[in-house]
Amino acid sequence: MNYNVNEKGYYGEFGGAYIPEMLYPNVEELRQNYLKVMAEPEFQKEFNQLLKDYVGRPSPLYYAKRLSKKYNTKIYLKREDLNHTGAHKINNTIGQILMAKRLGKTRIIAETGAGQHGVATATVCALMGLECIVYMGEIDIARQAPNVARMKMLGAKVVPATSGSKTLKDATNEAIRDWINNPVNTHYIIGSAIGPHPYPDMVTRFQAIISEEIKWQLKEHEGKENPDYVVACIGGGSNAAGTYYHFLHEEDVNIIAVEAAGLGIHSGESAATSVLGREGIIHGCKTLLMQTIDGQITEPYSISAGLDYPGVGPMHAHLCKTGRAEFMSITDDEAMNAGLELCKLEGIIPAIESSHALAIFEQKQFKPNDVVVLSLSGRGDKDLQNYIEYFKI
Ligand SMILES: *Cc1c(COP(=O)(O)O)cnc(C)c1O
Repeated sequence: MNYNVNEKGYYGEFGGAYIPEMLYPNVEELRQNYLKVMAEPEFQKEFNQLLKDYVGRPSPLYYAKRLSKKYNTKIYLKREDLNHTGAHKINNTIGQILMAKRLGKTRIIAETGAGQHGVATATVCALMGLECIVYMGEIDIARQAPNVARMKMLGAKVVPATSGSKTLKDATNEAIRDWINNPVNTHYIIGSAIGPHPYPDMVTRFQAIISEEIKWQLKEHEGKENPDYVVACIGGGSNAAGTYYHFLHEEDVNIIAVEAAGLGIHSGESAATSVLGREGIIHGCKTLLMQTIDGQITEPYSISAGLDYPGVGPMHAHLCKTGRAEFMSITDDEAMNAGLELCKLEGIIPAIESSHALAIFEQKQFKPNDVVVLSLSGRGDKDLQNYIEYFKI
C-alpha cells in the first residue's frame, strides 16, 4: 500500500484538485515547480538554515518521565511548542515563503480562523519583506483580538470576511477570490495539509522535518529509530502529517490520529470527522468531510480553535479508510484535564490542540516497554484565557 501522494495528486481515492477554472494556472504553476524547487540545494540550504537559526530547530525530543510513570509506558514529547511563534505552523510558512520567492511572487495572501496561521504567515512575510494580506472572518476577528494585534504589529493587513457565517470558510472564499484576481504576483499560503494538490503534499514535506528529527533523536535515546507509536492531533492534519511522514511505510510503527469530539461525538457539537464524515469536497480536495444529507458542510465545534475544522486532509482520509492509522476522539473535558495534568506533571503548558493528543493515555493502555512519541504541536500561552475560564483559575 502507498500512503504518499501519487502522480495525479491522490492518496487512494482522496485528494486531487477540484478548483475553479480561473485558479488553474496558479495551481498548475505550483504543481509543476514545487518538487523541483524543493530539491534545489540552495533552497534546501536556506530552508534548513532558517529552521535552525530562526525557528530554533531541532526541537527537543523530551522523555516525559513523570507522565510515563503515571501511564506505565515510555512517552516522548516532540517539542514543537518550543518553536518560534509557539507551534509547528512556522515550519510550513517558512517553506512556502521561500517557494513563493523562487516563483517570483511579491505578494502573500492567507486565510486564518483562530489567527495562528495568520500570525505564522505574517511572521515570515516580515522576515522576507513581502506584502501580506490575511483574510479572517469578522466574528473570528472579534474573538481573537490578541492574534489580530500580532498580525498587525508584524505588518500584515487583516481583511474581514463579512459574508456567510463570518468565520474560516468565508475567509477561505475571500482568499480564493483574491488569488483569482491576482494570479501573477501572488502566492496563497495554505496553513494545513489540505487544499488542492500539490498543497497537501507540499505542506507535508515541509512538516516532515518533525519525523526526520524524531528518527535520529530516538536513536540517541533508545538506540532505535522507530517508536512503537506516533501520536498527533488532527485539525487539517499538518503536524500529524509531519510526525507520521517518515514512518508511514514502517510497518512496526503504529499511527494514532486524535480528533476533537467537542461536547461528544454525537452531541451535534463535534469535529470528529473520521466518525461523522463522508466523502466530499472542501477547499479544493476530495476528502472526509462532515456534511448534511444534502451535502452542506456542517459547522464543526471544538474548544480548541485549531481542531475546529469540518474535514481532515486527504492523506489522513486515506490513512483512516485503509486502517493504517487508528483514529481516536477526545472531548473538550478530556482534553482540558489532560492539558492541566501535563502542567502539573511536567511543567509544560500545552496548546489545547496538543492536549487532545495527551488525553489518549486515559483511553488506551500501552505496554510498559512501548515507546510512544507524541507531537506536542504548540504551547498553551494562546489558550490561557480558555484554561482560566474552564478551571476557574
Ligand atoms: C493549528 C494547530 C493545530 C492543528 O493544525 P494541524 O494542521 O492539524 O496540525 C494543532 N496544534 C496547534 C498548536 C495548532 O496551532
